[in-house]
Amino acid sequence: MNCGLNTGLSKELDTSMVKIESMPHLLNQARRQLSRLRPSHQRSQLQSFTRREFDQAVAAMFKSKVQIQKDQTLALRHILSTAVTRVPYYKDIKIDLDNFSFNELHKFPIITKKMMVNDPESFMVSDLNLKLAQWSHTSGSSGSPFQFLVPNNSYARENIAMCRAWNMGGHYQPGDPVIMLRSYSPGPAEPIFRYAPADNFWYLSAFDINQDTLPKYLEIIQQSGAKVLRGYASSIYLFSLLLSKQGIKIPQIKTIITSSETLLPIYRQVIEAQFKVKVLDWYGLNERVVTVQQCTAGNYHNNDDYGIIEIDEHDHIIGTSLHNNFMPFIRYDTGDIAVVNQLPDSCPCGRTFTIPFSEIQGRSDDLLYKFDGTAVPTVNIYTAMHDIKNILQFKIIQEADLRITVQVVSHHPLSPIEKRQIIDVLKQRLGSIEIDIESVKLIPRNHKTGKIQACESHVKTKTRRANNAVASLAPYRLSSHRVWEQDSSRVYKLDWNEAAIMPSPRVLSVLRNLPDYYQLNWYPDTHNHELITRLAKYAGVAEQQVQYFAGSDAAHEYIVRAFLNPNELVTILAPTYDNFRVVALAQGAHIHYHQVPLDGPFQIEHLIEDLHAHHSALVYFANPNNPTGRIYQFSDIEKLTQSFPTTIFVIDEAYVEFAGVSAAPLINDHANIIITRTLSKAFALASLRFGYIITQEENIELLNRIRNAKLISTPAQFAAIAALQDIPYMQQYVRVINLAKDEFAQALITAGYRVINGGGNFILVDLITTERKLDLLKHLANQSVFIRDCGYIPNLSTFVRITIAPPEIMRNIAQKLINWRPT
Ligand code: PMP
Repeated sequence: MNCGLNTGLSKELDTSMVKIESMPHLLNQARRQLSRLRPSHQRSQLQSFTRREFDQAVAAMFKSKVQIQKDQTLALRHILSTAVTRVPYYKDIKIDLDNFSFNELHKFPIITKKMMVNDPESFMVSDLNLKLAQWSHTSGSSGSPFQFLVPNNSYARENIAMCRAWNMGGHYQPGDPVIMLRSYSPGPAEPIFRYAPADNFWYLSAFDINQDTLPKYLEIIQQSGAKVLRGYASSIYLFSLLLSKQGIKIPQIKTIITSSETLLPIYRQVIEAQFKVKVLDWYGLNERVVTVQQCTAGNYHNNDDYGIIEIDEHDHIIGTSLHNNFMPFIRYDTGDIAVVNQLPDSCPCGRTFTIPFSEIQGRSDDLLYKFDGTAVPTVNIYTAMHDIKNILQFKIIQEADLRITVQVVSHHPLSPIEKRQIIDVLKQRLGSIEIDIESVKLIPRNHKTGKIQACESHVKTKTRRANNAVASLAPYRLSSHRVWEQDSSRVYKLDWNEAAIMPSPRVLSVLRNLPDYYQLNWYPDTHNHELITRLAKYAGVAEQQVQYFAGSDAAHEYIVRAFLNPNELVTILAPTYDNFRVVALAQGAHIHYHQVPLDGPFQIEHLIEDLHAHHSALVYFANPNNPTGRIYQFSDIEKLTQSFPTTIFVIDEAYVEFAGVSAAPLINDHANIIITRTLSKAFALASLRFGYIITQEENIELLNRIRNAKLISTPAQFAAIAALQDIPYMQQYVRVINLAKDEFAQALITAGYRVINGGGNFILVDLITTERKLDLLKHLANQSVFIRDCGYIPNLSTFVRITIAPPEIMRNIAQKLINWRPT
């Protein structure tokens, strides 16, 4: 073994260095240079420092606290003065160099990776005409690869710190053999191990740990004579499980070092039980800002001669590098989360390096999101998952629409009870969210980093600049797009509560002849008087009390914008139509759900009590409700709106024609009621986008300030007038649908289904389990029958909603449901 060459970069690296001459070309050069660098495992780590430097580094951990602080302050002074004099981003910060103290650091703002990615040059020293720095980069596994400058000797510093960490177990000196259960991923024809003689590192694949390869792993470990085993937390865990299953012990291993992944409590427990050795966890980052390692007493020691650690109020690890004076990382938010150390900063191991935290909890991107946009950290979920003994390993994947898939590797097939347990673990923490469990043989490692990410989130929250409220909200779930991909004449579209017939013949005729009486090159009429008159007459209110919009969805958006302030509370009577949640959250409001039973009596007192406890700026409910069909009685609505005169009640009467109970007569006496209605349902005009509101004139005046009158298209306006001229057509349709609905519901009940039949043009059917529900949805979709999966609505994971079409169609559908047998 040779560890006595020059400090700084090895020869190989020196030749691949580029001279950095001018700022505009920096990033292109970085790209070129990075492509030429050899992968890190091909460079010798030990040749980057001398034995003497190593011994000094070990001794440094035992210096007096006063001395350590003195050294740190000196290094910090150098970095901060470099920053304020040579780095554009810090040019306006003034520090006191004469009376320099550690506190000067707090004059610097916390910076994030995103800030540096967006404008790297402002974080580099402006006179960078040196040969002393090289480019490096993060893996990009979090979605945004990051290129940065590090001093040439940072590689050596990192290696010294690492070897010093392995030495802390008491069984390692530079040059001793080390088993590396990490970094090496063999190609198809390559062996599962690779030896790096310059370092005496024995790399074993982290991708091939299984029963068949185990003998080879054991052989290599024995041959190496290594006492140190280093690897990803998950790979050593899997290896331990395998050994334990086979009853194999490896007493040769005396030190175990985990790194690169969160060391889950269960990982530690299993590894320590198997090897009878304390796991020493290591924390570092590619940016080489700080490094931390655990000693055998279990304390996480910061390498005080390498960087400074602070923990901010979000429990993020904030690091300041003490050696990067080319691109200083000052108060850099690592995005990693830790638990602040509450105990005294001294350690039985005798090392005086500080102990900034007691536990590393993971990365800030290891987050899952609840339906209302709340972020939930995963560590506690991981711990609970591991209480399910059959689970060997798992990965939680959250899609952009918040749906979760849990991939599970288990000892034997998961039982229904275990599946239930998994769902309960997640639901308990995330509320009602769709969860699929997928049994897999193997959790794939990220091919770039070799690591396993126990939580993979596709909820994009941090990649771009965004309105914070929008960045974390789950979108409204659209109905399946497969419908539009098919021949419409063969499809039964029963998934979005549209009318199942064409609009009135008057509407069709008006639309056909529209170009004859309207200049289509003109904008739409911005105040269609005839339309207003007809709407007012139909609703039984004054003309000043109605206004029309491009659908009731659009009306909701305007209402929220005109009446709600960020951070105010909106109460939604749930379960219900989910669009209002989206528009309210986007406005920065918070949502409180008042759960209303799916069927059975409604307790207005409970709601009133709840609203006293949750003072709400706005309350939304649909009457009749979608998807439960519940009809809220006029007297209840009156009582409610009277009880909370300063709360706006948005009453969504999209299906009013099917149920007949409207709050419209209340508006004269109640300024706090805004009714929204639509011609999408009973009037069969969904594609034209036309809705309207009924409320007091002052409310309309407020809405008019922001309402874009051009958005209600001319065809929609003409069609709406024509539809309102043929109210008997609509009424006849409603009669047919209501009869068909009762007949259909009865047929399903007779066949043993649980049905909730209420006031809309739809019914709700409970399939009891999600498996049965998904099977039915697939079965019907294969026959071009599309119904609505309600799984995305809290508490309705096993339900489907079926829109009612005329009786002939519904008899056919009923037959399909009666004949269906789950596969
Ligand atoms: N409100 C409720 C309760 C609904 O169910 C729907 C349609 N699914 C809408 C509003 C949307 O109506 P519009 O087509 O007028 O936007």
